[in-house]
Amino acid sequence: MGRIVESAHAKINLVLDVGPVRSDGYHWIHTVMQSLELRDIVIMEERPAGISIECLPGDPTRQGAMFCLELEPCSMPPSNAENLAWKAADLLRQAVGIQRGVSITIRKAIPLAAGLAGGSADAAAVLRGLNRLWNLGLDLAELAAVGVKVGADVPFCLLEGTAEVTGIGEKIRPVDSPPPWPVLLLKLPVSVSTKSCYEAYDKLASPPRVNAPAMLEALANCDLAAAARRLGNSLEAVTFQQVPELAFWRQAMEQAGCLGVLMSGSGPTLFGLVRDEEHGHAAFQRLAHRIKQEPPAMLPNLYLTRFLSSNRQDQFEGGTRHA
Ligand code: ATP
Repeated sequence: MGRIVESAHAKINLVLDVGPVRSDGYHWIHTVMQSLELRDIVIMEERPAGISIECLPGDPTRQGAMFCLELEPCSMPPSNAENLAWKAADLLRQAVGIQRGVSITIRKAIPLAAGLAGGSADAAAVLRGLNRLWNLGLDLAELAAVGVKVGADVPFCLLEGTAEVTGIGEKIRPVDSPPPWPVLLLKLPVSVSTKSCYEAYDKLASPPRVNAPAMLEALANCDLAAAARRLGNSLEAVTFQQVPELAFWRQAMEQAGCLGVLMSGSGPTLFGLVRDEEHGHAAFQRLAHRIKQEPPAMLPNLYLTRFLSSNRQDQFEGGTRHA
């Protein structure tokens, strides 16, 4: 029986510009997505028929985090057909018309419902892995066509790295990744409904817009200071209204020395850019100290990870059919 292990990397949005809502309810977006070294591990083992799934806590410090403070254990996604990884496997079987089975085990290190696309990354890892395990020979575009039915972030998660993403998330233009810049992640123990966030955004009299091309220019120049200045997210104001504690923690991250702080996706994770690993470690320690001093309600988890500075283009260019 075959067995495949795939990494499913978290992502952040370095900029997220949300445009008008389309007739199908989706919004036009213009975003720059960046994969991180923080990752889930997805193990797929062949079985005669059916899909099974198990989600287990992983170890962030062995899965891409240099440092981690988790005062509360992270919650686990459902181990059933609701799991996006399960959905991806099922949709792939339907797309290629086969009835093979797979057991999926996910070691979660990416915080759940965080704006870090953990579920989409797991779904993408399953599509890449089953393409190999079942010897399907599908290319990136064919896998992305299945992936977008699971979620708008899945096409990017198939490729990973750094990309300009437009449409509803399905139009992906890979760009050169900057160096593996360290980044702090701070995740409050609240979940934000992406749907309610977009609904609140649509009600704003003048929805905030963000300059995505300026971020692309900063990245092309590998200019960390410029990238820190160009961070922007159209959805930040509405999520900050729903979760007022975010303003406190943003300030704490700035006071700890982050060059720039932004919310990822629809939140609630905040990320902070730092100069280098030493600076990142110092900021991590200051924030960890601060977290431990706060009253025990609503304490965030904290991670120091890095930008992932490569994508999977080679994997697809070389063809994916295995003997
Ligand atoms: P995005 O950034 O794409 O909006 P997110 O980081 O906000 O995603 P996820 O961690 O992907 O959120 O989880 C969103 C929801 O999907 C959660 O409510 C969770 O229960 C469900 N879910 C289903 N499968 C998974 C999975 N494999 N990993 C994480 N969440 C999953």
